[in-house]
Amino acid sequence: MSLPFIDLKSQYAALKPSIDARIQAVLDHGQFIMGPEVQELEQKLAAYVGVKHCITVASGTEALLIALMALDLQPGDEVITTPFTFAATAEVIVLLGGVPVFVDIEPDSCNIDARLIEAAITPRTRAIMPVSLYGQVADMDAINEIAARHGDIPVIEDAAQSFGATYRSRRTDHATTPRRSCGLSTWGATSFFPSKPLGCYGDGGALFTNNDTLAKAAREIRVHGQSQRYTHTRVGVGGRMDTLQCAVVLGKLERFDWEVAQRLRLGARYQQLLADLPLQGLAVREDRDCVWAQFTVQVDQREAVVAALKAAGIPTAIHYPKPLHRQAAYADRCRVPAPLPHAETAATRVMSLPMSPDLTEAQQDQVVEALRQALAQGAATGSVTASASAAHSAEAAADRTA
Ligand SMILES: *Cc1c(COP(=O)(O)O)cnc(C)c1O
Repeated sequence: MSLPFIDLKSQYAALKPSIDARIQAVLDHGQFIMGPEVQELEQKLAAYVGVKHCITVASGTEALLIALMALDLQPGDEVITTPFTFAATAEVIVLLGGVPVFVDIEPDSCNIDARLIEAAITPRTRAIMPVSLYGQVADMDAINEIAARHGDIPVIEDAAQSFGATYRSRRTDHATTPRRSCGLSTWGATSFFPSKPLGCYGDGGALFTNNDTLAKAAREIRVHGQSQRYTHTRVGVGGRMDTLQCAVVLGKLERFDWEVAQRLRLGARYQQLLADLPLQGLAVREDRDCVWAQFTVQVDQREAVVAALKAAGIPTAIHYPKPLHRQAAYADRCRVPAPLPHAETAATRVMSLPMSPDLTEAQQDQVVEALRQALAQGAATGSVTASASAAHSAEAAADRTA
């Protein structure tokens, strides 16, 4: 039997009374643009993240775009980021005439390697945009420290995949709000695309900051640069999030803590079950957690493994098959100060497995068993070789010969 890659149906079944009631309330009051749910959501999300300002916007992409517009990014300005991400990260830079400057990732976490950022800074550097990939926060303290040393370069966290993740603070310490993704730098930008850790039923996103001036700018940019009605003090966009979508996110917030706990538990269980297979799991740093927007592993001979899983009814996805400096749209519009071997390699090896808070242990066992067989098949025909970079692959190889 085939199982879903992301199970939104079980989530809706669990939340139906609340989501339906909230949607109905919007239909009844009729304030579809900037209705009361927009402000309610912004207040709740700002409190959750632990920052002063939350500004909901039309999508995660719009959040990144507005963050850069509020910083007044100018043509020719450089933004340092990772090539191993969804295109939107670089797209917004290029849309404003800026130049994405790509530095390599850490091969085990797949997040930008903070140690490589400093060498990429030039007088044109206007922002640093790390991505908290797969749901694990990038090395934000190290990045903020580099940014501060170079004249307070603004740092924008692309947190489209990491809403709910914590960083260098214990989740169990209820006395204080933990340090969370989106609240760790100048700007945090997230997405409510349906498949993200906190999703709506269409497009949506949000920006987070403690900076009053930037927050005011973003609120104006979101509504065509208006400081008052029909007073356009700056160039903006039509970037609001619909009241209906805010109502959906409010409904989903009701069990979000449970969902994050499930993601952490299921992610740890996957890692444990996969530990003896010839693959490379994602390294999650000890001082942070991963909310597993994608549960991604690295394998050799990926196409064969993906095909075997598909035959067994297990859907997979590739996040991402080609680093952005190799994409036609960006190859001539970016700057690559140094080779990007780890991004290149990861793009050929990554594969994401089914993951959602409602994934059952039985389904997870089914995925792991199918993957075990797919990898064993490959090993038998010589098409899958144990990864040299995974310590446990040596053990797995020893198991096979034993
Ligand atoms: C999903 C995603 C985005 C874009 O979010 P949208 O809401 O789809 O516009 C940006 N960056 C990353 C890393 C993403 O995963």
